[in-house]
This record gives sequence, C-alpha cells and structure tokens, in this order.
Amino acid sequence: MALSVEPVPCLSDNYLWLLKDAATGAVALCDPGEPEAAIAAVEAGGGRLDMVLLTHHHGDHIAGAEALRAKYGAKLVGAAADARRLPKLDVALAEGETVALGASEAVVIDTPGHTRGHIAFYFATARVLLCGDTLFSLGCGRLLEGNAEEMFASLKKFAALPGETLVCCGHEYTESNARFALTVEPQNKALVARTAEAAVQRAAGRPTVPTTMAEEMAANPFLRAGSVAKLAEIRSAKDSFR
Ligand code: ZN
Ligand code: FE
Repeated sequence: MALSVEPVPCLSDNYLWLLKDAATGAVALCDPGEPEAAIAAVEAGGGRLDMVLLTHHHGDHIAGAEALRAKYGAKLVGAAADARRLPKLDVALAEGETVALGASEAVVIDTPGHTRGHIAFYFATARVLLCGDTLFSLGCGRLLEGNAEEMFASLKKFAALPGETLVCCGHEYTESNARFALTVEPQNKALVARTAEAAVQRAAGRPTVPTTMAEEMAANPFLRAGSVAKLAEIRSAKDSFR
C-alpha cells in the first residue's frame, strides 16, 4: 500500500494513528493524546515526523502535539474553524481543502456533532479515514457540542465513502459499543459476528480497529439510523446505558 496506517494505543483507551507514505518515507501522526506514546511511536518508526493531524480540540487528542513539533519540527494541521482551541496551527484547513503527506493526499471533511470544529481526514487513494471521535466501531461520538442533526449529516458523509475505506477512530470502544448496539439490533448477524470478533481481538490484546466502512454500514446502529430522530433516540439511550 502506498500509505501504511497503524494504531498506537495511548492513555487508557485512545489510539493515535501513525501514517507513512511509502513513496517518500514521509510520516504523520494523527491525534497524539500524550507526548510519551507519540514520541515512542515516531522513534520506533525511524525518528522522522513531518506532520501532526488533529481532528478536534480535546486534550486526549492534542496533548502531545506541541512536544512533537518541538522535537521533530512537524507541522501541526487542524481545523481553521477551531484554531483558537487547538495548539497553534501551521496549516489551518476548511472542508474540501487538502494536505499532502509526501505523495499521499488527504481531504478535509467537516464533521461537527461531537465538537463544533471537528474534522476528519480522508486519504482517498489509500482509502484511509481518520475520523477522530465522530465515528467509532459500532458507535459514534457523544454530542458534546453539537446536535443529532449535525451528527447525522457528518455520518452521512462517511457513509458515502467506499466500503473498503479503513475507519481509523480515536478510541477502543468497540466492546462496550457492541453491548449497546445489540440492544438496538439484536438480530443483526453482522453485528453479532463483529461482537464475537472484537471479543477475540481484545482477548488477544489486539486493537479492534481499523475496521472498514462496509463492516460499519452493516453493523453500526448509528450509521444505520435512517433519520435524525432515530439517531437522536439511540444516541441519548446510549448516553445512559451501563
Ligand atoms: Zn473527543
Ligand atoms: Fe476522545
């Protein structure tokens, strides 16, 4: 693959994502939630870091960013609309604008709902989606600053991407998401199978992500909600689900 992508666990259940453009050796990290894990990942990959991609302003996605810029001279890339809440950006982008990682290119998708200025990065050629806390495997982000209408529109943009798109999300929430998802669609065979697969992956100490858009379209009740009202209903049910 022209662009390799790998999840690196950090904090209690976050993932930062390490991306490497094969043609040029250019490296990016997405959502470095802590400096130590981020620096260790860069060092393990050869000590080069060109770019830090930030999906939104929460501390568990940005806390390592300044340290990475200081140590590697990496450029910080994030949403122009949320620049005042992000570390000082070197590249501030709006929806539809692109950023290059060597020979690979990502386009910015606006995805409000979890936070107002949340964005996703989509590498179209490699079919890699960095979706932060908007979409999780079998779940979606909490509506901390946005409403169900915005989240519905954001998820709809993801739903339009090719099925083989790799979904690279910000957290390892799959097993707890599965428990809730099964209350929404207990008969969904893809969901039942995905739940079993995730249990095996976690028992082996492996990440359950990346997953694919096709898998999520088949099993994720938040992507499968056909209306804003349905999405609002299941999102609020999930908020109080234990
Ligand atoms: Zn967040
Ligand atoms: Fe988060």
